[in-house]
Amino acid sequence: MAQQTKTDLPEGNSETIRLCQGCELPVEVVPVARGKSAYCPRCGTQLYRGGTPSLSGNLAIAITCLLLFIPSHFFEFISIRLVGVMIPATLPAGTLTLMSEGFVVLGLLILFCSSIAPLLVCSSVVTAHLALRYRWFKLLKYSLVLVQQLKHWVMLDVFLISIAVSCFKLQDYSDIFVGPGLLGLVMLQLTTVLLITRVSVRRYWEAWRGEDTFQFKKKQVHCHSCHLSQPEGDHCVRCGSELHHRMPNSVQKTWAYLIAATVAIFPANLIPISILITNGKRLEDTIFSGVASLVNTDMLGIAIIIFVASIVVPVAKILGLGYLLLAIKFKRKVFHKQRMMIYFAVKWIGKWSVMDLFVISIMMTLVDRDQILNFTPGFGAVAFGAVVVFTMLAAESLDPRLIWDNYSKRESFQNSSPITPKPVKSASNQNEKELEHE
Ligand SMILES: [Zn+2]
Ligand SMILES: [Zn+2]
Repeated sequence: MAQQTKTDLPEGNSETIRLCQGCELPVEVVPVARGKSAYCPRCGTQLYRGGTPSLSGNLAIAITCLLLFIPSHFFEFISIRLVGVMIPATLPAGTLTLMSEGFVVLGLLILFCSSIAPLLVCSSVVTAHLALRYRWFKLLKYSLVLVQQLKHWVMLDVFLISIAVSCFKLQDYSDIFVGPGLLGLVMLQLTTVLLITRVSVRRYWEAWRGEDTFQFKKKQVHCHSCHLSQPEGDHCVRCGSELHHRMPNSVQKTWAYLIAATVAIFPANLIPISILITNGKRLEDTIFSGVASLVNTDMLGIAIIIFVASIVVPVAKILGLGYLLLAIKFKRKVFHKQRMMIYFAVKWIGKWSVMDLFVISIMMTLVDRDQILNFTPGFGAVAFGAVVVFTMLAAESLDPRLIWDNYSKRESFQNSSPITPKPVKSASNQNEKELEHE
């Protein structure tokens, strides 16, 4: 490509151009009102949020979250009265019971999604502030990488719904009492959601070194770690991450995780995931028979929730990702936007499938009295845990830009100069869509 001069640039100047991280379309940055977000006009990815950033607000919320970890983790969230004995349930207790009964990986998965991931995200925000204050590059980089990678694994909301489901399942056997930990958990959930929606990795990098201090003539590649569009190169000039037009081996990795999930989904559905022993009777339940028995006991609402979370969501994720991969392979030229919606949906619904595992962990804590009532997970639960992890990893391995690779030639990034005026569109305001965060 010939040397590009300033005169080749579109109206305005190149400083206001950015490449969309979802489809690599060059987009002109326009001011957006506070509380609104700018979305890519082609693929619908959220590009940036309006208003002036208040990073200190994030710090306050992150510290609040860290303080709330104490009541939410060390006080019981519910207690049940079983044969005259009060049994409390705390958040870590369920995972410890699981591990002590030999389900170590399952226990670790539940501990990670309900405690470790939220804890790491909140403390990484605090360390990012420290790093900005004292100009520690490495600490900033790793803190922000943690925030970006782990925010999809924060599943406190799923845990709260799982508590409700467990209560419904237990109401026949015992009296249920709400403990102070539940209030702590609800508060922690609210503050973490607030934190995750507010924290923008790009804004932290902007505070480190603003985009306007780089005088780029061309913007050809977008850094996925700090969201700086910049000229072609091996490493990002701001954060030092490797630059790729497409994530390396994205398709192969996604296929691998998807095939693993497809293999695991069979034992997950065929082998019992929970074993309940009441009065000497042994009740083994697969996911489906669990749903069926909930229907039989007139708990239709709970049955629908479990059915959707445990059967519909994993199958829909596998089919959705499989369709996206096939469409990439056979270079389908239509319905790019619809495929992007599938991609957003698959990323968003993913975590809800973990619910049944949370329910098992809560039931384990509460119903572990050998005499009358005993509850243990079956090996189906381990396979189900694998399905959840593999489908989440598959969704994260897929580079959405691949979906747009063969978008009509005229508009395609690869076949035209990256910042010719034609593909540049002003980012549109679409307040209602809140799918992908920058
Ligand atoms: Zn886009
Ligand atoms: Zn970067």
